Amino acid sequence: MKILIVGGVAGGATAATRLRRLSEENEVIIFEKGQYVSFANCGLPYHISGTIDKRDALLLQTPESLKERYNLDVRVFTEVLSIYTVDKKVSVKNLQTGEIYLENYDKLLLSPGAEPIKPPFEGIDSDKIYTLKNIPDMDKIVAKTKNAQNFVVVGGGFIGLEVAENLIEAGKSVKLVELGNQVMAPVDFDIASFVHEKAKQKGLELLLNVGVEKFNDKGETIEVFLNNGTSLETDAVILAIGVKPETKLAIEAGLEIGETRGILVNEFMQTSNPDIYAVGDAIEVAHYINNKKVLIPLAWPANRQGRIVADNIVLGNQYKYTGSLGSSILKFFELSVASTGLNEKTLKKFGIPYKTAIVTRGHHAGYYPGAKNMVLKLIFDENGKIFGAQAVGEAGVDKRIDVIATAIKGNLTVYDLPEIEITYAPPFNSAKDPVNIAGYAAENILKGDLEMVNYDEFWDFVKENDAVILDVRTSKEFSGGAIEGAININVDDLRANLENLDKNKVYAIYCQVGLRGYLANRIMRNNGFRAVNLNGGYNLWSKVQS
Ligand SMILES: Cc1cc2nc3c(=O)[nH]c(=O)nc-3n(C[C@H](O)[C@H](O)[C@H](O)COP(=O)(O)OP(=O)(O)OC[C@H]3O[C@@H](n4cnc5c(N)ncnc54)[C@H](O)[C@@H]3O)c2cc1C
Repeated sequence: MKILIVGGVAGGATAATRLRRLSEENEVIIFEKGQYVSFANCGLPYHISGTIDKRDALLLQTPESLKERYNLDVRVFTEVLSIYTVDKKVSVKNLQTGEIYLENYDKLLLSPGAEPIKPPFEGIDSDKIYTLKNIPDMDKIVAKTKNAQNFVVVGGGFIGLEVAENLIEAGKSVKLVELGNQVMAPVDFDIASFVHEKAKQKGLELLLNVGVEKFNDKGETIEVFLNNGTSLETDAVILAIGVKPETKLAIEAGLEIGETRGILVNEFMQTSNPDIYAVGDAIEVAHYINNKKVLIPLAWPANRQGRIVADNIVLGNQYKYTGSLGSSILKFFELSVASTGLNEKTLKKFGIPYKTAIVTRGHHAGYYPGAKNMVLKLIFDENGKIFGAQAVGEAGVDKRIDVIATAIKGNLTVYDLPEIEITYAPPFNSAKDPVNIAGYAAENILKGDLEMVNYDEFWDFVKENDAVILDVRTSKEFSGGAIEGAININVDDLRANLENLDKNKVYAIYCQVGLRGYLANRIMRNNGFRAVNLNGGYNLWSKVQS
C-alpha cells in the first residue's frame, strides 16, 4: 500500500512512525512544506527567553533520522498543491526547485495543522508584527527583535501568555491586549484572576476588554490602535489571537467541512472520502462531554489521532476517537493553570445546569517544607457527572487535573473521587488528596449537607435572602480585609456565640479558603440555622475583585 501524509509535525509524524511499526511493507511518504519535520512547536516560546537554550533541542527528528530508523520518505520544502480524488493522486511542488509532479496514493492522511489568525487590519503586513507557529517564525522573532525593548502581545491565550512570560524573563517590557474580560479562555474568570494578579506582580501590563483595530508602522516603532480610542507605541507586536484550521486542500478537493470550519471526519478519522483521513488542528472533533463539534488545536489530540489513523489504515477501521476533553495547562511564571472538560462559561452558554465545588489545599502535607496551595474547582451535575475541572497554583496542579481527566474518561462520578486511593508520603501529598477533598465537597453539596454560593451570585443571594454575612476567620485576618458588611466571629468562638445569632436569618459564611467556613456551616446547621458558604472563600473573592 502507498500512503501519503501531508504535514510532518505532530499528527503527521506520529502517524508515519506508527505506520512503519505496524508494517514493513507499506510505502510511506511525508510531504512537509517547511524546512523541519517533527519539531517541538510547544517549546518555541521558551527559546525566545533562552529557557530552552539550545535551538536544536527543538528539532526532534530530521528527514535523515526518520529514514534511518523508520524507512520513511520525508520530503521537506515540498508542498502538496491539490488532491485529485478520482485518480487518487496529489500534485506536489518542490519549493526549492519549483518542480511540480504527481504522486499517487492508496490512502492519504491530511495533518496540515492550523494557521495563526491575521485579520485584514490596516497595517497588518508590517514587518514589526510577528506570529509564532514554527521554527522560522521563532528564529525571526529572536533575530529581528534582539534590540527591541517594548513589545505588545495581542491575545491572552496560551501562546500569547507564554510569549509574554518569556519576553519578560528576557528583560523586555510587555503589554498584553485581550479582547475578553480575562486571559486563558479555557478556565473561568475566577481561576483566570490568579493569572491576572501574577501578571501584575511581574510587570506585565494587561489591557482587558479591549481590541486592536489597526497598526501604523512608523519606521523605528509601530503604533497599535485600540478600539477604546487609545493607541500604544511599541518596537514589536506579537499577534497571538488564535489559529484557524488549514482547510484549503480539503475544500478544493471537495471534502466536507464541519460547522466549526474544521475538516469533517468520522470516529475513525476518515473524511467524507473514505481513502482520505485527517487529524490534528485541521479537523473538528466532538467534545467528549457534550458531543458538540469543536476545534481543539492541542498536541495530545493530534498525536492520539495520528496513531488511530495509522492503526485504521493498516488494520482496517477498528479504532475510534472518542472525542476531546481539551485538557490543557499553562506555566505562567511560578503559577500553573490547568483545566479539563467544560468550563462554567460554556455550560452557561448551552443552558446546562451545573454545580461547582472549589477547594483550596496544599500540594503536599503542610508540615513538610515547600507546600504550595492550589485552588481546585470541580464542575458537575446533580447526578454527580463530572463536567470539568480547573486548578491554579504553584505545584501539583497538573497531577490533579490529569487525575480528574482520567476519572472523566473512566466514567467516574464525583462520588468516586473520594475513592481514588492515592500514593501518600509527606513530600508528595496529604493523606487526603485535593481531588479526594473536591469529591467530598461535591458529595456534601449534592446530598444537601452543604449549600454553596459562587462569588458572582453572592450579592444577589445576600440581597434576596436579607442574609447576614459571617466571616469566621480570626479578627486579625478580618481586619486585614473583609467583605463589606460582614460580621466577624472566629469559627472557634462560634458555638459560644450561637445564642446571640438569629435563627430566622440566613447566614452567608466565608473564611479564607473554605475549610473553616465548612466547619462553621456544620456547626450552624447542626444547631438549626440556615447557612450558605461562599465558594472559594475570601482568597478567591479578593482575586476576582481586584
Ligand atoms: C508556539 C506554540 C506552542 C504550543 N504549545 C502547545 C502546548 O503547550 N500544548 C499543546 O497541547 N499544544 C500546543 N501547541 C499546539 C500544538 O503544537 C498543535 O496542536 C499540534 O502541533 C497540531 O498538530 P498537527 O499535526 O495538526 O499540525 P502541525 O504540528 O502544525 O503540523 C502541520 C504541518 O503541516 C505542514 N503543511 C500544511 N499544509 C501543507 C501542505 N499543503 N503541504 C505540505 N505541508 C503542509 C505545515 O508546514 C506544518 O508543519 C502549540 C503550538 C504553537 C504554535
